[in-house]
Amino acid sequence: MRGCKLLIVGAGAAGISAAAAAWDAGCRDILLVDRGIRPGGILPQCLHEGFGMADFGRELTGPEYTALLLTRLGRTGAALQPETELLSVSKDRIAVLSRRGSLEQLHFEHMILATGCREKSIGALCIAGTRPAGIFTAGQAQERINLRNQDLGDEIVILGSGDLGLIMARRFTLEGKHVIAVLEQEAQAGGMARNVRRCIKAYSIPLRCRTTVREIHGEGRVCGVTVEHLDSGARETISCDTLVTALGLIPDREAARGLEGSEWLSLAGNCSRVHDIVDSAAAEATRIGTLIGRQLSV
Ligand SMILES: Cc1cc2nc3c(=O)[nH]c(=O)nc-3n(C[C@H](O)[C@H](O)[C@H](O)COP(=O)(O)OP(=O)(O)OC[C@H]3O[C@@H](n4cnc5c(N)ncnc54)[C@H](O)[C@@H]3O)c2cc1C
Repeated sequence: MRGCKLLIVGAGAAGISAAAAAWDAGCRDILLVDRGIRPGGILPQCLHEGFGMADFGRELTGPEYTALLLTRLGRTGAALQPETELLSVSKDRIAVLSRRGSLEQLHFEHMILATGCREKSIGALCIAGTRPAGIFTAGQAQERINLRNQDLGDEIVILGSGDLGLIMARRFTLEGKHVIAVLEQEAQAGGMARNVRRCIKAYSIPLRCRTTVREIHGEGRVCGVTVEHLDSGARETISCDTLVTALGLIPDREAARGLEGSEWLSLAGNCSRVHDIVDSAAAEATRIGTLIGRQLSV
């Protein structure tokens, strides 16, 4: 059975930062795996600026920030292995990895889990009606538009005004689409003030607070949503062909479920808690990588 001292799962900002820090702290046997084809995690699909201010002292796009992190990693001897998914891990520190159709067991001394987070789906809300085509989470929409150049629809309603919802409202607008409204159940936007300013106000996109979607209409394809005004209880139906949900993120540490608290397991980045800013995910992972790297260097 193959083995390594430090196995890091997830090559997003957190995993890459942890690997580079662990190497710098003296650990010389590091394997960094990711199920994706390319490293960077969520960053390569984030074409907007807003990354890396604390880390590199300037505002970068997601791909630019990834490139700098990978340059940092490239100065170390940590091995990066893409297309490798962690399926399970046992108490005796054996990871089951899937790579291009074959399974491998790998023994490790310590694991840093940096598997990021996943989006809450529409199923998390009690919304009546059909589930036709034309409903996307904001992350799905971002990936399809930015990386696959897909055309998702023309008349867009966005449910949720966290940063992801705000960023996608601007993205659709820049694509020439009509963002009818961003709907938010709270009294103010959930995202950072800078994103409200840059993504919503700058493009005069309507942000409707204290509203939510109560029903989805459409057979085959979305044709409208019923919106409730939460303070008055009044309802209206808005015609649209696309509903984008930005309902929040949930740390994803499914692969190590039940093993949290083991002394050989650390969590870093968004799988530990959701970080709004990439720099704080990277900084946390750097701290953890340094600590574990020192322990494994002796
Ligand atoms: C749409 C969006 C916009 C954002 N905009 C900004 C911004 O403008 N400025 C800013 O500072 N921050 C922004 N953030 C936040 C920032 O991107 C994140 O905090 C940070 O990228 C999280 O890094 P991570 O490494 O923890 O997770 P991720 O980037 O999600 O990386 C996790 C990696 O783990 C891999 N993985 C998961 N499960 C497995 C498994 N079982 N086996 C192998 N690999 C696995 C995934 O493939 C992925 O590559 C944004 C986030 C999103 C979602």
